Amino acid sequence: MKRILLIIFLFGLVTSVHAQKATRTMAVTIDDLPYVKFREGSYVARGQAATAKILNALKKHKVIAVGFVNEHMLESATDREARIDLLRQWVKSGMILGNHTYSHPDFNRLTVEQFQEEITKGEVVTRQLMKSRQPYQLYFRHPMTHTGDTREKKEAIEQFLRARGYKITPHTIENSDFIFNVPYAQALEKGDEALAKRLREEYLNFTIAATEFAEKISPQVFGREIPQLLVIHANDITADALDEMLQRLAARGYKFVSLDKVMADPVYQTKDTMVTRFGPTWLWRWTKSKGMDLDFDDDPDPPKWVMDLYNSR
Ligand SMILES: [Zn+2]
Repeated sequence: MKRILLIIFLFGLVTSVHAQKATRTMAVTIDDLPYVKFREGSYVARGQAATAKILNALKKHKVIAVGFVNEHMLESATDREARIDLLRQWVKSGMILGNHTYSHPDFNRLTVEQFQEEITKGEVVTRQLMKSRQPYQLYFRHPMTHTGDTREKKEAIEQFLRARGYKITPHTIENSDFIFNVPYAQALEKGDEALAKRLREEYLNFTIAATEFAEKISPQVFGREIPQLLVIHANDITADALDEMLQRLAARGYKFVSLDKVMADPVYQTKDTMVTRFGPTWLWRWTKSKGMDLDFDDDPDPPKWVMDLYNSR
C-alpha cells in the first residue's frame, strides 16, 4: 500500500511539474541580424560563430524565432555572399526573417518619406531568402522601437506598413543585452573569462528579473498574465547565454510559441496610441493608451557596475 501511495505521489509530482511547464507562453524575437560585431576579427567569422550558437540554442529548445534584419550589414566589397549565407542559415533552421529597416536609423531624426525608403530598401534580400516560405506574415520592428515622435509620423508609418502587409512587432520583455554585450565583448577581447562569466550570469539574472516584472505587471493591465514577447539581439553575450536563458525561462513554466501565436492573443490587438521619442515596452504603451496610471518603478534597470563598464567604453 505504501509503495502504491508513493508511486501515486511521484506520479502527481511529475504531472504537476509538467503542468507548470504549460502555464505560460512566450515568443522570441532577435534583432540586428545578421550579427552585431563589437570584437576584433572578421565579420563573417565572428558572425558565423554567433549564428551557430544562437540557432543551436533555438533548435534545442524548439523555438521558432523571428529575426529582424538590417540589410546594410550585408554590404561588403569582399564577403557579401558569406554575410547573406548567415541569414540563409536562419531560414534553413525554420526561423522567420523580419524587417528592421535597411540601416537601423532613428525615426526621430527622419521624415516619414525617408523612413519609408528605409523600410522598402530593408526588405530586398530578406524577401528573396524567405521566398520558399510564402505566404507568411511579414513583421516589422522599428529600430530602438522608436515608433514616431509625433502622432502624424507614427500614424503615417503605421498606415504605410499595413499597406505593405506588415504587422508592427511589439515587445513586453527587454533585457538590455545591447548594454551587457559591450563590456562582454571587451572582456572576451582581453581574455578576462572571469569578468565575462560574471557578466553572463548578471545578464541571465537580469533577464529573469525583467521577465518577473512583466509577469507581475501584465495582470494589472489586462487582468491576467499575457503571452510574453521577448526581444534580444544577435550579439556575443546572447549567443553565449541563450541556451541557459531558454532553459531558465522554461523552468519558469514558459512554452515557446511562434510570434504569430502570441500576436493572435486579443491583448495584442490593444492599440498603442502613445507618442514618445523613446522606445518603451508595450506594457507601458498599452497602460498609457488605456489611460491607466500604474507604477513601473519596479521595472528593473541593469546593475550599476554593468552601466559603469558600458559608459566607460
Ligand atoms: Zn535594433
